[in-house]
Amino acid sequence: MPPLRSLPEIKALEVLQQARAEFGALGEPFDTYTVDVELLAAILFDLGVQQVPELRVGEREYAGFLDGDAKLVVVEATHHEHRRRFSIAHEVGHFVLHYLPRTAPGGVFACTSQDMETNAVPAGTGSAARLRHCRQEVEANQFAGELLMPEPSVRAMYKVTGGQVVKLARHFNVSSRAMEIRLERLGLPFAASLR
Ligand SMILES: [Zn+2]
Repeated sequence: MPPLRSLPEIKALEVLQQARAEFGALGEPFDTYTVDVELLAAILFDLGVQQVPELRVGEREYAGFLDGDAKLVVVEATHHEHRRRFSIAHEVGHFVLHYLPRTAPGGVFACTSQDMETNAVPAGTGSAARLRHCRQEVEANQFAGELLMPEPSVRAMYKVTGGQVVKLARHFNVSSRAMEIRLERLGLPFAASLR
């Protein structure tokens, strides 16, 4: 039984629908297999995307930032295109889910590579701020997963490729790891890739 869609995933599907309409109105091609996430951020949310190498504060390295007030997303320029696409989608997720409704104070989100892979809030006794951070990371990742790998498209392509992760990842222009996490989430079995 596949899991029910979470609110972040439902929101991402709504954003894709909106993008399809807006792209069409502008005469831009729209394809749910390789969504142009940078163009989507610009057209739908007026968000600019900058790529900066060595994105760090002090010792800490980051994969992506969102400054909601400045309408700016910054991603690590040296990361592979697959990771940059995911980071942009993740920051758009923070913008839509956490910045626009202002459910949390602060308009700046700074996300590490580890944050981009958080798919469950760890059990334990973290501080309230830590738990909120983890919950928001999980939500941004679910949003990004649905935005870049929409469930209907994944299910269709899953049949075509026989569930081969490498082929699926190539179709959606994402990393094999992101594809595996997405297939797990959708309850679709796959053979773990050799790494
Ligand atoms: Zn984040």
